[in-house]
Amino acid sequence: MLLQEILEYNEQFVQDKKYLPNEATKMPKKRMVVVSCMDARLIELLPKALDIHDGDAKVIRNAGGKIASPFDSVMQSVVASVYDLNADEIFLIGHHRCGASQSNPKGTIQKMLDRGVTTPEILSAIEYAGVDLEKWLFGFHNVEDLTQANVDLVRNHPLIPKDVPVHGLVIDPHTGKLELVVDGYKALNEMQH
Ligand SMILES: [Zn+2]
Repeated sequence: MLLQEILEYNEQFVQDKKYLPNEATKMPKKRMVVVSCMDARLIELLPKALDIHDGDAKVIRNAGGKIASPFDSVMQSVVASVYDLNADEIFLIGHHRCGASQSNPKGTIQKMLDRGVTTPEILSAIEYAGVDLEKWLFGFHNVEDLTQANVDLVRNHPLIPKDVPVHGLVIDPHTGKLELVVDGYKALNEMQH
């Protein structure tokens, strides 16, 4: 009964005022927005490894930290962070050994069929409606390539100001070590020259 467990813990949490050390405002102190993966190993490791705490940053997470298209919900959150929530720098952080890099859309679709959730007829109808389900379910092959593609997409986005640095990094989900893929300051300098 996970829900019950969480609710019971939560009641005690609030009663004991355990939230007090985490009190913060909604504007990020470090004026940054982070896009990364929903991987369970990164829940605490990622912010610890970056030294960000409650109140420091906006953090957006999904499967793989992938920005699927210029007008998906990740991009909407990034744009909102930049214009309305005082984020001046963008950090796109992929990670090694990501589940999304081993994604197998055909296998996932087979599981949907096996569980009786869908049928080949429904799949045809979805395809007919213009949705490429395999593409939609696909993660990525190589994390450096994904990170570079994310950086390119954000940097060239028509609604992202040209003076906002867009950094690309890869984190190790075991040690928290960061590797720099794209230095957003350097890229800005090169564009100005
Ligand atoms: Zn991942």
